[in-house]
Amino acid sequence: MRLLLAEDNVALADELCALLRGAGYVVDWRADGRDVAELGAVEPYDLCVLDLGLPGVSGLQILRKWREQHNRLPVLVLTARGSWTERVEGLRAGADDYLPKPFHHDELLLRIQALLRRSHGAQPSAVLSVVGLELDEQAQRVSRNGESFELSASEFRLLRYFMLHPGQVLSKSRLADHLYDYEAERDSNVLEVLVNHLRRKLGREVIETRRGQGYVLRGAA
Ligand code: CA
Repeated sequence: MRLLLAEDNVALADELCALLRGAGYVVDWRADGRDVAELGAVEPYDLCVLDLGLPGVSGLQILRKWREQHNRLPVLVLTARGSWTERVEGLRAGADDYLPKPFHHDELLLRIQALLRRSHGAQPSAVLSVVGLELDEQAQRVSRNGESFELSASEFRLLRYFMLHPGQVLSKSRLADHLYDYEAERDSNVLEVLVNHLRRKLGREVIETRRGQGYVLRGAA
């Protein structure tokens, strides 16, 4: 899952980048509203964490413009403490959720998780449970038939993306779009290696290869 973080407070942005990356998200951070507006319009993000008070173009203007352009990117707005007007304006402009500053790290992570699940039609439960696999996003572990497996950070990122898109053909370029940030080198061999790691843990049949098209998460029988 690839997130766009729009926050002009550098100390807070540093903290949030570390938090989000630790939780297995790929993050592009921008502080200027103009950069945020442009990136969010062209890059295939899974979610945007949007501070409303940004230099250049305000968060509200960005959000209104995206919605006018029918950009359905899930947006979690960060608002000033106690400002009910910001919350109302944010929701009116098309925000999916909001969080007043200051907030607890866990609350941000849980709201992001809930919003991502909701936008993919998955259940808002503690564990993401799809096609016979159960993913514990906090512990970054997966279980199948009661057996639990450790995941490396990159295996976790890939499996979470698969589990939010079960049964769909996912091309390597699409996977790369959602698993690497803007600056990253994209190497499709790395993806193949990761898919094989997951198969070794969970069973070969769990991820099907479609020649020339990509991969499909089939899950456990
Ligand atoms: Ca700000």
